[in-house]
Amino acid sequence: MSDRKRFEGDPIADFHIHPDYSIDAKGSIDDYCRRAFDIGLSEICFTTHYDADPSRADFEGAMVVGGQRVKISDEAVRRYLDDVDRAREEYGRIGLVVRSGMEFGYFPGCDREISRLQSKFPLEYRLGAVHTVGEHCICCKGEAPKLFAKLTVTQLADRYFELLTECAATGLFDCLAHIDAYRRYGLAHYGDEINTVHRGRIEKLFATMQAHGVGYELNTSAIRHGHAEYYPAMEIVNLARAAGVSLITLGSDAHHPDQLALDFETAATVAYELFPYVDE
Ligand SMILES: [Zn+2]
Ligand SMILES: [Zn+2]
Repeated sequence: MSDRKRFEGDPIADFHIHPDYSIDAKGSIDDYCRRAFDIGLSEICFTTHYDADPSRADFEGAMVVGGQRVKISDEAVRRYLDDVDRAREEYGRIGLVVRSGMEFGYFPGCDREISRLQSKFPLEYRLGAVHTVGEHCICCKGEAPKLFAKLTVTQLADRYFELLTECAATGLFDCLAHIDAYRRYGLAHYGDEINTVHRGRIEKLFATMQAHGVGYELNTSAIRHGHAEYYPAMEIVNLARAAGVSLITLGSDAHHPDQLALDFETAATVAYELFPYVDE
């Protein structure tokens, strides 16, 4: 039975969604749109991955187009965006707003390529993220421990926040994804210390975000990763509020349609600034 009435009353939007153009995701654009409509979302924004590290000749980002894994290319991006545009038209008729975005993995020196791509393909939402520190994916189960084995928690935090601050300073993004994503696998390796490493480091990040008009998302995928707090944790949300940095979206970081809007009823109470009419 449909649970379409779940979000009745509030205009709930999910702004972090990976359809099966992302190599690590399942579910077509249509699968996501149907699910979004069924559970009563008013708006969704697709944010497929765009990763390309200019410093490594062997590191070519990949996408899946027409069921085939392909090297990232303008043609692959065009196919993805054409599909989103078709869905915008089709599901707009039944009242679901569908938006085009991408989640750009940040690598030092990637600015020119991302800037070129964004000029060629104007997007409604540009999400910037740090997934890679040095050579290792910090969000990958197999790779994160290799990185952690090389770095103290302090070294990890210094490098991660330096990259994320550079990412914000490019001015190429509307929003930063999962600000404290290092907690995902870092908690098991470093213990509780990982929960406070932002202190003394996030202030510079926030100043840079402010200077470039970059906001952040409340990413609920932490819940399905077994964490008690979203990305970022409440202490960071409160520090952002004090610094005047805006929480601009809720994102489930869904890699499967069943994960859409995960825990959004609770997340919406945390992100109260997104729902200015709730108390009227
Ligand atoms: Zn991400
Ligand atoms: Zn994502």
